[in-house]
Amino acid sequence: SDSHFPIPISPDDVELSQHYPRYFPADKDEHGDGEVAAPRIRFADVGCGFGGLLVGLSPIFPDKLMIGMELRDKVTEYVKERVLALRASNPGQYDNISVVRTNSMKYIPNYFRKAQLSKMFFLFPDPHFKEKNHRRRVISMQLLDEYAYVMEVGGIIYTITDVEELGIWMRSCLEKHSLFEAVPDEEIKVDPVVKLLSTATEEGQKVARNGGQTFQAIFRRISLQEE
Ligand code: SAM
Repeated sequence: SDSHFPIPISPDDVELSQHYPRYFPADKDEHGDGEVAAPRIRFADVGCGFGGLLVGLSPIFPDKLMIGMELRDKVTEYVKERVLALRASNPGQYDNISVVRTNSMKYIPNYFRKAQLSKMFFLFPDPHFKEKNHRRRVISMQLLDEYAYVMEVGGIIYTITDVEELGIWMRSCLEKHSLFEAVPDEEIKVDPVVKLLSTATEEGQKVARNGGQTFQAIFRRISLQEE
């Protein structure tokens, strides 16, 4: 249960030096020295599973800090080990990716400030088929309010699934939400991140091996006139 893992009381409490030691050397005062702003986490892979997306994204965006959020303890430990092993065998690389064990449905605002994130990923999330379990889906109108809060205007939310019903659900939530707008096809085609959604993730690879169909919804965080 949740009591088994620590939860930062606010985004200031996230221990960045543990996640990204090369960016936050331990001997440097992290707080309040008024110097150049420290880098912040910019991408979140929600329900990251075994971390394939982070590993794929890391070299494409070497100056962006990214975090995977994963509920399962053993899976989180696996990703930690995977990242450490990659860092050890590729010095100077993979320093920008890390993972945290958490329940993303409860604690997103504990990790990120307003407008902090430029990309959020929801790749092959659990479908929760039954009507009474729809409230457990990681995309819902309520959770989109939270995601909109932590995303910067212009930021992009990527979703993909092999479950058609869930694909329709995620797209329709995003379409209904006033702070998100579909990214045009021409942009999707040239976005280097898009092909990773199915090629880099363990779930995506499984679906591809089985010749399954996938359903994407890729939306941009927009501003309201009044904002
Ligand atoms: N995104 C990965 C991929 O595409 O390979 C993993 C997909 S897997 C089907 C869904 C993952 O979401 C599982 O690893 C599960 O433990 C995780 N998960 C489910 N609910 C979660 C929650 N509330 N917070 C964080 N992770 C969650």
